[in-house]
Amino acid sequence: MLYMSNQHAREWITPEMTRRLMHYYLDNYGKDDRVTRIVDRTELWFVLSANPDGYDYTHQSPDNRQWRKNLRDNNGDGKITAGDGVDLNRNFAYKWGYDNEGSSADLADETYRGPAPGSEPETKALDAFEKRVGFTYGINYHSAAELLLYGVGWQVATPTPDDVLYKSLAGTPEHSAIPGYHPQVSSELYTTNGEADGHAANVNGMMMFTPEMSTCQTASGVDPNDAWQPRDCASVFTFPDDEKLIAQEFTKNIPFALSVAETAEHPDRPASSVGLTAPDFTPDTFTTSYARGGDQDVAVTVRKSVRDKKLNYRVDGGRTRTASLKAWKGGETYGGEDNVLFDQYRAAVKDADPGQQVKVWFTGRTKSGKRTVSEPFTYTVAKRPRADTLVLAEEGGSSPARHTAAYTRALADNGRKAAVWDVATQGAPSALGVLSHFKTVLWYTGAERPGGPTLLAVRDFLNEGGKLITTGERAGGSSEVGPADTDDFSQYYLGADSRLTLKSPTAFQGTGALAGTGANLGDAPATPWTPRVPTRSPPMCCRRRTSPSSAARARGSTRARAPRTSPMRATGWRPRATVTTPGCGCPVRST
Ligand SMILES: [Zn+2]
Repeated sequence: MLYMSNQHAREWITPEMTRRLMHYYLDNYGKDDRVTRIVDRTELWFVLSANPDGYDYTHQSPDNRQWRKNLRDNNGDGKITAGDGVDLNRNFAYKWGYDNEGSSADLADETYRGPAPGSEPETKALDAFEKRVGFTYGINYHSAAELLLYGVGWQVATPTPDDVLYKSLAGTPEHSAIPGYHPQVSSELYTTNGEADGHAANVNGMMMFTPEMSTCQTASGVDPNDAWQPRDCASVFTFPDDEKLIAQEFTKNIPFALSVAETAEHPDRPASSVGLTAPDFTPDTFTTSYARGGDQDVAVTVRKSVRDKKLNYRVDGGRTRTASLKAWKGGETYGGEDNVLFDQYRAAVKDADPGQQVKVWFTGRTKSGKRTVSEPFTYTVAKRPRADTLVLAEEGGSSPARHTAAYTRALADNGRKAAVWDVATQGAPSALGVLSHFKTVLWYTGAERPGGPTLLAVRDFLNEGGKLITTGERAGGSSEVGPADTDDFSQYYLGADSRLTLKSPTAFQGTGALAGTGANLGDAPATPWTPRVPTRSPPMCCRRRTSPSSAARARGSTRARAPRTSPMRATGWRPRATVTTPGCGCPVRST
């Protein structure tokens, strides 16, 4: 079990958290049964500062108090100035530099990822330390946002098999394992790449959480009659230097910290402080299959230690048939990772015809040999035309789609027969149950923004090799995906980096990879325009890092991905982060 803190220099409450936790174990050993038991059975390691140079620097002068990165002298001038330092929570090799949103190639940026994966001595030390000790669990304390983060950081809204375990320990938004901290997948609000947790899990096989401890404002607001007022906070990171408030913050973190250490003894059986368990099976359920007599793949997340993992199914109440479950290797972009203790498995249901009902459940044996069974789910094989193209209608609202015929006719004119799925009446389609049965999906969204649940199903379809045509006044813009307002799908899966307005366009002509394509356009009065930032503009203080050269450098050094041309991207400024510094209004990175 590893407790670590202070990857970011200014997050002073975090080394104090691990220091007090170490004391708590030492002081209560031999007195408190639970603490004694943990210490007797589990090796506990404490890294109080993962960024000692940076931490020291924040103490040298009040001017340095808000320093985040390490002290790498980026320009080699022998002095530490504003453009120096590497963000140690962006420097790890796993997904290093995946894009310029989750980290920056700009030396002066607060999330500068460093010149190479694992370039920094602090990163090398932690990586070697994780390999040497072979941790099963870790907690990586940060501040300040009152969150309890786990899972994928590099792409928004990407659930993974180990989330089953993470969730059982982190709790739910209504009942969080750390009171006041919202438990969520790491990338729910903004993405991070090259960060410690992803590397810990996918390179060194250890499960790691990132609690974002309380802001100065929250702590200062706890007692209106004490000396600490939110308006006096210099930033979210300057937690009040007040024994009572620090003790309160520490105390509410103890149950979670202990529960993770207890779990380390039996890693895939969580000792949850909020009474949650991690089920052996979490089936990916759906109610309608478009298999039309072909095989229907089904998926389930299973505790890896369960043996003889099997799919069981009955067609229209007939005899039970079984098939062995095989671990899913993942798709073109994601999947097959973050599977330290749980994994996704798949098998195919055969010989079910249109109109028939299929009941599906999963079985296996636990480590101790006990038979274990999942909850069942049932789907109906829909009657639908033979077709290799699906028209996915999402016109918004709950009235049946009115324009599907225009699309099926256009496809028919080009020799393609299409089936139809209407989101308004059928809900978001299942990627496996519906979309996977087609080579191509034509997704139209009319005048509305593409919906988040449909977008995620389409992303799964593309991840496994599907082809997409998408159209709509607001296609290629941003969508609400869970709590995030994000255009990541448009950027990374459609290659649509920005949108612009054209008055009465009459035709289009492709260039580059689309050379030779083109068409005349109808009588649209103008192309609609979705502003990149619908509700807020970045205040001037956020623009200070903009420079054409740094933007060009950022693009040049990234992997082969959709180009980033927006000046807002180049600054690293993100409209979706929620934490702001008083007096500035700029979102502040805390993870
Ligand atoms: Zn941090």
